Amino acid sequence: MAATILVVEDEPAIQELIAFNLKQAGHHALLADNAEQALRLVANALPDLVLLDWMLPGLSGIEFARRLRADKRTRTVPIIMLTARSEEQDKLSGLDSGADDYITKPFSPRELNARIKAVLRRRAPQMTDDVVDIGGL
Ligand code: CA
Repeated sequence: MAATILVVEDEPAIQELIAFNLKQAGHHALLADNAEQALRLVANALPDLVLLDWMLPGLSGIEFARRLRADKRTRTVPIIMLTARSEEQDKLSGLDSGADDYITKPFSPRELNARIKAVLRRRAPQMTDDVVDIGGL
């Protein structure tokens, strides 16, 4: 299941860790330090999934998610929010803004991979390696 994943994260150490982990999992990582840069990358080519930090300099992760959801072209791109916040209300705001899932920092590579896989499977079943049972067909 090789996917092109856009990572929007302003902390270099975390961005690097995520990029390393994505490559290990066989994905192609596109990296952005802020939402403005991410918008330019998305304008160039649609990623299969966006890993989006909540707290970004300038345009926030929430606002970036809203912009993707407001545009017909980018409306269905899956988004997983990354955040240090674990408050229930913040989680709800994240999901409200159009995120498909939510990961609270710090997270393990295993959790990240599992959530990416689950979101990709929901959005594009044909992209996963899993055998699909087509019943009596
Ligand atoms: Ca941040």
